[in-house]
Amino acid sequence: MAPDRGGGGIPVAMQFDLFDDTQTSIIAAEDYPLFKDLVKSSNCKQCELHRGRRNIVIDRGTPTAKIMVIGEAPGEKEDSTGSAFVGRAGKLLDEILKAINLDTEKDVLIVNIVKCRPPGNRAPLREEVNACMPYLHKQIKLVQPHVIVLLGAVALKHMIPGKKGFSMADEAGNFFASSEYPGVHFMVLYHPAYLLYDPRKKKDMWEHVKRLETFLKETRLV
Ligand code: SF4
Repeated sequence: MAPDRGGGGIPVAMQFDLFDDTQTSIIAAEDYPLFKDLVKSSNCKQCELHRGRRNIVIDRGTPTAKIMVIGEAPGEKEDSTGSAFVGRAGKLLDEILKAINLDTEKDVLIVNIVKCRPPGNRAPLREEVNACMPYLHKQIKLVQPHVIVLLGAVALKHMIPGKKGFSMADEAGNFFASSEYPGVHFMVLYHPAYLLYDPRKKKDMWEHVKRLETFLKETRLV
């Protein structure tokens, strides 16, 4: 089927991008508080996830942190409160970070690949990620984290598209660099929701976060 061109010769989706200066002004925000306010008040409709959301979920934690944690997408509790990682998985994440002396509210900024809840908590679709990624890139640019912790396979897949055919069993606990983000140390951890599903992975997770703690101490980031 031919794309809907809305009578102007340009596909409708592209027209939306061309004439939507809301996202342009958000991406031009000079500081994090302004960026956050603009996204919160934007009523963003850049992808279909806007249809079912109650809140655009930007983050939780502090934007001056040296450590950024990137998850997948808001769940029900996050959607209703507007804050990232506040459900069961979020509480587990808080406990995990606390075990290595990191305070979620002071030492990290927690964000997600997409800012609106996918229906039924499914993984975000490629087009939804593509639509939302400019916001995440802007967050990284404004925060300038030294360490980015990727929670789970979805975060890894979309943040590092060049990594294909990986398994979390191989990737979890590893550090790596990405030419797209010079100077940033990436680490992959199991998503806390996966630990709730399969508690047998908690032992591996503990070894992985101890590696993170050692790295943070050696690099004097905490
Ligand atoms: S997920 Fe991102 S791009 Fe899609 S509507 Fe929400 S804020 Fe906009």
